[in-house]
Amino acid sequence: MSTAAKKISEKTRNLDEYRNKYKREFSKILNAITKYHKNPNLILLKKAFVFALDAHKDQMRKSGEPYITHCLETAKILAELRMDDATIAAGLLHDVVEDTGVSIEIVKDTFGFEIAQLVDGVTKIGEIKFKSAVEKQAENFRKMIFSMIEDLRVIFIKFADRLHNMRTLQYLPEKKAKRIALETREVYSPLAHRFGIARIKWELDDLAFKFLEPEDYNNVKSQIEERTSLREKYVEKVVDPIVKELESAGIKARVQSRVKSLYSVYRKMRDKNRSFEEVYDLIAIRIILKQITDCYFTLGVVHKLYTPLYDRFKDYIAVPKLNMYQSLHTTVVGPEGNMFEIQIRTEEMHKIAEIGIAAHWKYKEGKESEDELDKYSAWLREMIDLEGDHLNAEEYMDILKTNLYQSEVFVFTPKGDLIKLPIGSTPVDFGFAIHTDIGMHCLGAKVNGKIVPLNSKLKSGDTVEILTSDNQTPSQDWITFVKTSKAKGKIKRWFKETQIVEAEKIGREILERGLKRYRVNATKKEIVEAVKTLEIFNIEQLYINLGQGDISLYKVIKEIDPEKFKRIKKQQEKEELIKKFVTRARGSSKGIRVHGADNLLINFASCCTPVPGDPITGFVTKGRGIVVHRRDCPNAINLMNQPERNINVAWDNTEQQNFIVQLKLISTERKHLMKDVAEVVASLDTDIVQINLNKKNDVISLNMVVEVKDISHLTKIKRKLSNLKGVISVERDNSQYTE
Ligand code: MN
Repeated sequence: MSTAAKKISEKTRNLDEYRNKYKREFSKILNAITKYHKNPNLILLKKAFVFALDAHKDQMRKSGEPYITHCLETAKILAELRMDDATIAAGLLHDVVEDTGVSIEIVKDTFGFEIAQLVDGVTKIGEIKFKSAVEKQAENFRKMIFSMIEDLRVIFIKFADRLHNMRTLQYLPEKKAKRIALETREVYSPLAHRFGIARIKWELDDLAFKFLEPEDYNNVKSQIEERTSLREKYVEKVVDPIVKELESAGIKARVQSRVKSLYSVYRKMRDKNRSFEEVYDLIAIRIILKQITDCYFTLGVVHKLYTPLYDRFKDYIAVPKLNMYQSLHTTVVGPEGNMFEIQIRTEEMHKIAEIGIAAHWKYKEGKESEDELDKYSAWLREMIDLEGDHLNAEEYMDILKTNLYQSEVFVFTPKGDLIKLPIGSTPVDFGFAIHTDIGMHCLGAKVNGKIVPLNSKLKSGDTVEILTSDNQTPSQDWITFVKTSKAKGKIKRWFKETQIVEAEKIGREILERGLKRYRVNATKKEIVEAVKTLEIFNIEQLYINLGQGDISLYKVIKEIDPEKFKRIKKQQEKEELIKKFVTRARGSSKGIRVHGADNLLINFASCCTPVPGDPITGFVTKGRGIVVHRRDCPNAINLMNQPERNINVAWDNTEQQNFIVQLKLISTERKHLMKDVAEVVASLDTDIVQINLNKKNDVISLNMVVEVKDISHLTKIKRKLSNLKGVISVERDNSQYTE
């Protein structure tokens, strides 16, 4: 064999070895994919792998390894994020355009438009020259967002690429390594956080920490390691009783414990100027359960076993974070007085906590359901549109951080859906933006878990929940504060329509009862004929006119039967006939009867939240709606100064509905208080709608909103709560909001 031939055969053998070696690595990744994806496109994935393998065959990483290792690691991370075939294929191919002679056209011809676009997006991000100066950050973000706008999956590939580069950063010259680490901290980590990909964010943070502050990094790391076995024993001691209690209640729980990211520990020490020993919530214990109800039950168990720090309890299940993270967080005092944090969540929440928006990729018939992702894309697109707004870098960063716009606010539904509204919008606008029915029946609103007045202005980042009731209808004053034309238009139209419908109903009753009472016999036809002189030409119009008070029954009878009218007039001259008729026709609406009103739009005052049985009084508001207050409500007492607006109202027992009341419970600090309160309320067959806890000098004040049927139901709840150990008082509370 000639030397040349020998060389060639050696090369071939080496190439075969190379291929076989990485084929094995690749099949491990395929294996991982099949764990979450039933029918991966193996042909596509293999093709992408072989293509990358050949394109990079002559390249080495700085670490001395063949370049393909980087492509495989990137794909592996993408598989950990449970990404789809196209993303993983593009992950394998992500560097072929940038680092080899392959053009994007070839990628497109070989793999199609979708994958070519992904590769192109990643290549474009690679071309952005990030500078670490703070004022450059905004620009960096903007460019970054711009390059992933076409397809969000680009950012996952870039995250995976960056993560592997960070893991192998030690092979780069120090200066370059520091620059990349800084860029990672300033650009990639915040973005990973925004997308909720905690798993990647933490690792990126820790790796950047390692290269940017090596001494501190080693210091924190060794301190944590020193205490590993102690800590593990401690965790066991803490967790065992919880698991036992859960088991005996038949609840299956998975427990995880881990040290929080080194960087977060370091930041806590640095920002709060604490020593390592003082960073108490070093360990996070996670309890992962099947369903949401188990989560709250587990919280009860935890608080029974360990004293909670009240100001550290957070219900991110009811109020998810901006990036859709959900969990219950509580910090408790454990054995030996050590404090630690417990996070309680379901498996589904856990998945979202770990991989964020990637969790929204679903594999149905090989197609992704992209609803959630579309919303992120929309958000990104808005960020890009800011370009025309001439913002300085600082302003842009501000907006990016809070999602704030000059003319718009971004708020979230409890499920995390993004809703865009004009600035100054209120919960009512939000309700109408979701669905006309929600707007129409909007009873109250919770912003970030707190009940707020319906006219409060929403801020970007708020999570808004609308409380609705089928019985609730728009109130006239809504028109004065709603911002969106949709809400305004719908409310106005509703008033027009309902007023006519209501008036017609009332008018019919006025007429029918009136004729009966005065024994006026007339057919509809005769009536219509008679009222022509009043320029009324059909019976409906007559009803409406009567109902709206435009004409009186008196006048109608006069037209139908002038003789009868004279007699009636004589009989009852001194009486105010109209009022009497209207009273007879008094309406019943939402558990309230109104005497002497010709319009029946009733709203319960949100300041004092009356419930059936409370002494009440009604006030005609500027529009024509009637607002019902408790007699002892300070607002009602003020309104008494305007007797002309006063109107008699009474409860109507025939209607069953739930009413919302606010309660304030004061108690001395003690264990299990929350749990006991919840049990009492549940035992009386109702729900706590909202609960807030404040602690001051060993006194706990608990503000809660509870649903009740009527006053006797409420009294029972109050009595039972008052009987709880440590409870000082339970009162109805008007303090949370006023009208
Ligand atoms: Mn790369």
